[in-house]
Amino acid sequence: MTTYNICLLPGDGIGPEIIAEGVKVLDAIGAKYGVGFEYEKALIGGIAIDERGTALPDDTLAIAKAADAVLLAAVGGYKWDTTDPNLPRPEQGLLGIRKGLGLYTNLRPVQIFQALSEASTLKPSVIDGVDMMIVRELTGGLYFGMRERFYDEEGAGADGKPGQRAYDTLEYREYEIERIARQAFEIARKRRSKVSSVDKANVLETSRLWREIVHDIHDRDYADVELEDILVDNCAMQLINRPADFDVVVTENMFGDILSDEAAQITGSLGMLASASLGDSTALYEPSHGSAPDIAGKGIANPLAQIMSVEMMLRYSFDMGVAADDIRRSITSVLDEGWRTRDIADAATTSDHVVGTVAMGDLVVGHL
Ligand code: NAD
Repeated sequence: MTTYNICLLPGDGIGPEIIAEGVKVLDAIGAKYGVGFEYEKALIGGIAIDERGTALPDDTLAIAKAADAVLLAAVGGYKWDTTDPNLPRPEQGLLGIRKGLGLYTNLRPVQIFQALSEASTLKPSVIDGVDMMIVRELTGGLYFGMRERFYDEEGAGADGKPGQRAYDTLEYREYEIERIARQAFEIARKRRSKVSSVDKANVLETSRLWREIVHDIHDRDYADVELEDILVDNCAMQLINRPADFDVVVTENMFGDILSDEAAQITGSLGMLASASLGDSTALYEPSHGSAPDIAGKGIANPLAQIMSVEMMLRYSFDMGVAADDIRRSITSVLDEGWRTRDIADAATTSDHVVGTVAMGDLVVGHL
């Protein structure tokens, strides 16, 4: 029997509650498909700061590196909120593990569940059939470039006093663009074979390099995939104007950060979105939402985004597409029958169909 080792990072807030439901679903999939899953838990985020004084202890990174895949819940909470740059912050755990594992591709699927289409602020006719994958470059660009803030003696203001000045640097190397472009084309081949490459080539030199490399890779190895270029400002408009036309959207780090949050809002339900971060040797799967400290410990958190991150793990790390489809079908059936956690309940939900975290996990397993 094939056995996979999974590093579990429950983190903070609702993290431990929702990750337990993800594990429950994985175990059920293992039993159904004859695959073994073994787990090793490690500390990350606020709980790691409390117990070890750092958001990403060395042994956590070592366990994650040795695992076949990493399942993360969420980090953060009021307790660790600080603006003091000298104190550790839970988010340092996230940035540190992405960097430490070399996770340069972030995947965010945006799909509409028919039963929840009312949750979107967009008209049903606009969101009908939305099914896209945002592929964001995660370890380059503006967020990792040189930056500085200083007093500018030369740039004194009208009063003659030097004012502050700051800069960030946007830089991309050819190989960074090539590897993310390849990921996007490979994913498109497993979907509807269309890639929209987002840049700002009318202004930025990095974008002109981006466009050139993406076309080069396309013409050489992926001519069967449809490729369109779209400027980031136009893309921001088209995402809410004609979202169903997009299949795979590939873009650099900051554009991807902004566009993936915009795209996420199309569904209207934060508790329903998962994400994957892929590198060359491992991958990390997590819900898109945070640690929801306002509802932690109450047993009411929605575990579906975490369960969908398990679905992504099966698809992208273990090549278990059939089992992943099984989870998707099961969630669809549970929602079609009217079962809801509190965050996704609407006027049509009867009180006997509002369930807690554990019951929602049981329903998904029951429908597998
Ligand atoms: P959040 O996503 O945690 O919560 C926003 C709102 O959505 C809250 O009202 C919350 O109760 C609700 N919510 C979120 N997930 C839910 C779920 N699964 N079920 C039901 N309701 C859910 O965002 P926030 O409040 O801005 O941040 C809270 C903490 O999480 C902060 O410390 C922040 O830094 C951290 N955070 C972590 C991650 C991560 O771990 N990847 C991402 C975003 C925010």
